[in-house]
Amino acid sequence: MPEATLWESCLLHFEETLPAQQFNSWIKPLTCEIQGEIITLTAPNTFILKVIQERFLTEITKLSKKLLKITPHFQFKIGKEVVTLSSPKIEPVENIQLSNTKENKNHSKLNGSLAFENFVTGKANQLAHAAAMQVANFPGTIYNPLFIYGGVGLGKTHLIQSIGNLIKTENPQAKICYVHATNYISDVVRAFQTKKFDEFKQYYNSLDLLLIDDIQFIADKPGTQQEFFYTLNSLIDHNKQIVITCDTFPKEIAGIEARLTSRFSCGLTVAIEPPGLEMRVAILLQKANTLNHPIKEEVAFFIAKHVRSNIRELEGALNRILAYAKFHKENITVESAKEALKDLLSAQNKQVSIENIQKTVAEFYRLKVVELLSKKRTRSIARPRQIAMCLARELTQLSLPDIGNAFGGRDHSTVLHACKTIEDLRNTDQVLNSDFNILNQTLRN
Ligand code: ADP
Ligand code: MG
Repeated sequence: MPEATLWESCLLHFEETLPAQQFNSWIKPLTCEIQGEIITLTAPNTFILKVIQERFLTEITKLSKKLLKITPHFQFKIGKEVVTLSSPKIEPVENIQLSNTKENKNHSKLNGSLAFENFVTGKANQLAHAAAMQVANFPGTIYNPLFIYGGVGLGKTHLIQSIGNLIKTENPQAKICYVHATNYISDVVRAFQTKKFDEFKQYYNSLDLLLIDDIQFIADKPGTQQEFFYTLNSLIDHNKQIVITCDTFPKEIAGIEARLTSRFSCGLTVAIEPPGLEMRVAILLQKANTLNHPIKEEVAFFIAKHVRSNIRELEGALNRILAYAKFHKENITVESAKEALKDLLSAQNKQVSIENIQKTVAEFYRLKVVELLSKKRTRSIARPRQIAMCLARELTQLSLPDIGNAFGGRDHSTVLHACKTIEDLRNTDQVLNSDFNILNQTLRN
């Protein structure tokens, strides 16, 4: 490899593996000259040089061993002046291997336990689930790419893996790859270092199905983005299916080239939202059954009322309750669940009070709390009031009559009606649904 390219590959390597801010502060200001085995690094000041020596020299050494086949000797300069710094510790070069190459190409990285059969559906993920099923049944033909986005712990990985598992069952010969974006980045970097770009490209371009998880991680990694852009186009052109997950809507991912994000949205983009109360209950009941420890519905309701953030946390809470009951040789009851989740509950209960809900909703709609509690029935007040009631049912332990009381002495059937109305409206009215989600998130945090 010509010497100039050593530094270029170092730059690429660090650019891909370091946060942009670190790359810009430490690596970018350096210049590099290579003469035989002597590598001269010039930094603008001692501070940068020290950081380079302590944190990055091992990596630079590894790269030069790999690419130039030399054991480098370093010389350091600040401006034009040569400086001496103590010799760095050099670790041995480990064997670099692509995570997805010839050697393990049949290994799709699918996790068989993440399947459609144990994916509970409800309003929050209905659309994403339906789209995933369509794609699994007709890969490469309808929605390509399928882009699934949503917050943490809401089932993106589960869903994308389910697609892979179903396709694999239907067609065991299909070349499938599930890859987390961070591993994809490492693959790009390693392909560059080991000069195995052809192999890398060949592998990814030969897939029938590429499942790439958490694509937001390729933000600020231009080299990886370029490779991914090629792969994406090549696969789509050949009617091979791509499924992408992300923590946000394509247009909102910062640090990703526009040509990529617009390619993301050219298939179908679907959201997974946080599950509502009933769905959280359904998930708990199903999980408990799968674990062979069925729980009563009242216990599931109790957990679901308290654990609202995401499905991963729900699973965590359930596991704690099961472990607690086993340890104390007790049956699983609301009481034992309360005991098992004690710390969690005390932390959360403080946060969402009905007053807090009323205040937040009133503020959001620029109303006064008294208006929210009043008898006024104009739409601009009645709707926020219904939203607040619905949130109170979701987020507090209060009964329907309690909630009615807290809203200016209303009847429990009024609260129930409010909840139903809002639930229905959330399916048809996007603005209202989004308002609801924002309020819900704000109150939970
Ligand atoms: P994400 O990738 O969105 O962060 P995961 O797919 O890892 O979330 O889901 C977190 C946990 O919740 C996993 O154990 C997953 O199996 C489970 N889970 C998520 N959604 C569902 C669902 N709809 N039904 C059953 N389990 C689910
Ligand atoms: Mg995930």
